[in-house]
Amino acid sequence: MMLLKSPAEIAVMREAGRITASTLRVVGEAVVPGITTQELDEIASEHIRQAGGKPAFLGYHGFPATLCVSVNDEVVHGIPGKRRLKEGDIVSVDCGVIVDGYYGDAAMTFPVGAVSEEARNLMDVTRASLEAAIARCRPGMRLGDVGNAVQGVVERAGYSVVREYVGHGIGRSMHEEPQVPNFGRAGTGLQLRPGMVIAVEPMVNAGGYAVRSLDDGWTVVTADGSLSAHFEHTVAITADGPMVLTLE
Ligand code: MG
Ligand code: MG
Repeated sequence: MMLLKSPAEIAVMREAGRITASTLRVVGEAVVPGITTQELDEIASEHIRQAGGKPAFLGYHGFPATLCVSVNDEVVHGIPGKRRLKEGDIVSVDCGVIVDGYYGDAAMTFPVGAVSEEARNLMDVTRASLEAAIARCRPGMRLGDVGNAVQGVVERAGYSVVREYVGHGIGRSMHEEPQVPNFGRAGTGLQLRPGMVIAVEPMVNAGGYAVRSLDDGWTVVTADGSLSAHFEHTVAITADGPMVLTLE
């Protein structure tokens, strides 16, 4: 069942989203060659607590960190650690924050120094696919319209959309119904209504869409070793259209 949120609940989620967004900003500013992914996690942890939020991922199903940090062919759910970012890498940072029991969830992929044209284009296309999907987040549109918007932008660019992981409803839990696939047929699926809040999160591979999990039980990588990018926003459906909650 899809839970609808009141304007008061959405206002609290906006605060969670604001902290999520500012965390991604400070982490992004810290992304330079030589920094470890663990150091990025520490920056996020300190920032979230100082801002009055709680990290949403820490302890979630046993996840051991504040951020998911996924480098190059890592798609999602990378565990921060001793790995040092190097010039030319791309790094996907996923962050969740809780304020007064409500969740915000957002992700961005950052370049580490100068990156290849392919890496830059992959990031640009993934971000554009998210923007196209958000534009469909209005009453009367359907989840198939949202997923189709992502898929169209991505596939026209020659890239592929990950199938095994999808976006989701969000509110008093990080993952609520419905699932929000990044693919689909326009005009199909659940119809969007004011009060729905969803996390839209295209995961886009430069190669094929197949992925696999590493032995750490968390990290998801592309099956063919190609680069992957990930952008996510938490979006409320309002009578006036989409309201992106994960902005500062
Ligand atoms: Mg996320
Ligand atoms: Mg999410």
